[in-house]
Amino acid sequence: MKKPLLWALAVVCAGLIPLLIPGNKPEKRAADSSAALRERSSGFERYEIKNIEHPISAAGSDGSDFAPNLATVPSQPELEPVPEDTAILGPQRPDTRELELDTEKSITPNSNKPVEGKVAYLTFDDGPSLSTPRILQILNEYEVKATFFVIGKTSEESKRQLKNIVNQGHALGNHTFTHNYNQIYKSAEAFKADVDRLDRFLEETVGVKPEVLRYPGGSNNQLSWRAGGRNVMKTITREMSKLGISYFDWNVSSTDAAAPVQDKQSIIDSVISNSAGKSKIIVLMHDMDLKTTTVAALPAVIAHLKSQGYRFEVLRKNSFTYQFLKP
Ligand SMILES: [Zn+2]
Repeated sequence: MKKPLLWALAVVCAGLIPLLIPGNKPEKRAADSSAALRERSSGFERYEIKNIEHPISAAGSDGSDFAPNLATVPSQPELEPVPEDTAILGPQRPDTRELELDTEKSITPNSNKPVEGKVAYLTFDDGPSLSTPRILQILNEYEVKATFFVIGKTSEESKRQLKNIVNQGHALGNHTFTHNYNQIYKSAEAFKADVDRLDRFLEETVGVKPEVLRYPGGSNNQLSWRAGGRNVMKTITREMSKLGISYFDWNVSSTDAAAPVQDKQSIIDSVISNSAGKSKIIVLMHDMDLKTTTVAALPAVIAHLKSQGYRFEVLRKNSFTYQFLKP
């Protein structure tokens, strides 16, 4: 009776010995690293929620008449985006970016060579704009395809740019015709009508009906609450999903909407840090007249992602997706 008990005690004590040696606590280290990464990740996502995706347009026709005081809005846990693939936050991942970059390099000694499974989807919202020609030129120089979530701009120059986007092999996504939060987020019916309007315009203009959709402000935006109430995004995403319409938020923000003209280096650094450790990334950028630093940062952004082994694809209906709000 006593012998097995003693053996059990001995085994338990032996198991504790490594934990008594400083710096030799793998589980705790892993937990720390995981917590730190998760905090960093959720901090970034919170930031996304609190910052209007499109400060220019939101400050204009579609958002100027209200400025929600987000500090007074109780947090809604169900609106918090779920961290991507928690497996990558586990102990096998180094917890510093430098280490991460080293690891990537060791996997891809020949830089710019795609690593199997690593895909980057560059996305540009709110175009076409004066920035479109330069964005297309850079994408062409780097032989990279991207997805443009466009809105209803009907000038002849805009139509020309829409044609250029399609003719150069990029994808068009629907970002609603009016991009007017007060209008589109009144109800699922109002939202659908606006999406259909852009579909019709694009079919008439370039003969293409977008396969993919991005909600202005993202699927968990709180700016919709004023127009349609707190549950309106849930209702809209559910109704759109029933219709088989795929929507795409992002898991890498370039932070180019954090300021009217964001610092170029901040855009580059944000993409570098927000993409670290992710094998599939949807990168949020903007195609707007004022976003000159997005254009200026684009070559470095693409060069970095290539050096990390990403290949570039356009978003299709069944592509990898990242959704803040699950329909
Ligand atoms: Zn937008």
